[in-house]
Amino acid sequence: MQILLAAMMLVGLFAAGCVQAVAPHAELEKLPIIDSHGHLNGDISAETLIALMDRSGVSRMVLMARYYASAYSAGSGSDEQALDYSRKYPGRFIPFVAGQRGSLGQKNRSRWLKPDGVAENLLLETEQKLRSGEFYGLGEFIIRHYDYQAHGQGGSELNIPVDTPLMRRFAALAEKFRVPLLLHAEGEPEVVKGMRSLLEYNPKAKVIWAHNCGRSSAEIIGQMLTRYTNLFCDLGGMLNASFAGYGRYWPRATQWMHLIEDGSGQLYPEMQALYERFPDRFLIGTDPAHTPALAQYEKRIHRFRQLLSNLGPETAQRLAFKNAEALFRR
Ligand SMILES: [Zn+2]
Repeated sequence: MQILLAAMMLVGLFAAGCVQAVAPHAELEKLPIIDSHGHLNGDISAETLIALMDRSGVSRMVLMARYYASAYSAGSGSDEQALDYSRKYPGRFIPFVAGQRGSLGQKNRSRWLKPDGVAENLLLETEQKLRSGEFYGLGEFIIRHYDYQAHGQGGSELNIPVDTPLMRRFAALAEKFRVPLLLHAEGEPEVVKGMRSLLEYNPKAKVIWAHNCGRSSAEIIGQMLTRYTNLFCDLGGMLNASFAGYGRYWPRATQWMHLIEDGSGQLYPEMQALYERFPDRFLIGTDPAHTPALAQYEKRIHRFRQLLSNLGPETAQRLAFKNAEALFRR
């Protein structure tokens, strides 16, 4: 009986040890999060963002303007607006040179394959902005994206190859100015092939493959991160909840799409193991692409904190802010 009691106490101690290895909740609430996947539309004020960030304990936010001009696509942001916000609130915003432009959309697919005058101007403009030292990245480039017009917001199907002459030019700029290039591309087999090809063509450019590397499987992500040491994944909006998009089978399911959590804030074991295996290669981000999504901002951050509580303290800190700090350092 005594032996059994001792064994039970030992099990208890071991279990307590396991709990200790995971970041405690009180500590997580204090983690200064860097939101590495933020967007900017014309109707979003700096003050709105700062208030949301302050309320949810977010120290810095990446700003990727959405240039789309039509009311349906609800963009009308600009790089100048992002720059203005980062100057107004020093240290709080991380502006990128935007990739979400009508001029780079599906209708202009050929521009990616054969850069024309418009592309040359954009490259020149991009280079000037990066040279100023006030921009920290390039993107989000929308390469393979599913249509979600049926969901009441604008967003059409995009199917552009990943490794194109224009993307190689952007990658060259990313390499030259040592800033990351952020791509949105759902992890279909052709996309994975294209990512491999781009990363092999330019192994020096840092690439952030959004939405947990295109919502790929833990196995594929593990292989890619092992092979390509300049590849990073952001978890932009990867919450399995009604208040986020990419962590569900949204806007449609495919056989290549993998979720990271079970819907209650619990990471799936294979994803948890992946983050522990590559703790310095993942970033978190809220991805409020359309302005109304900002109403869910605090909930999204709260859920990310829940997910981080599934990880060891050091890994949690890396995903929360350390990896972003390293990537967006000047
Ligand atoms: Zn995206």
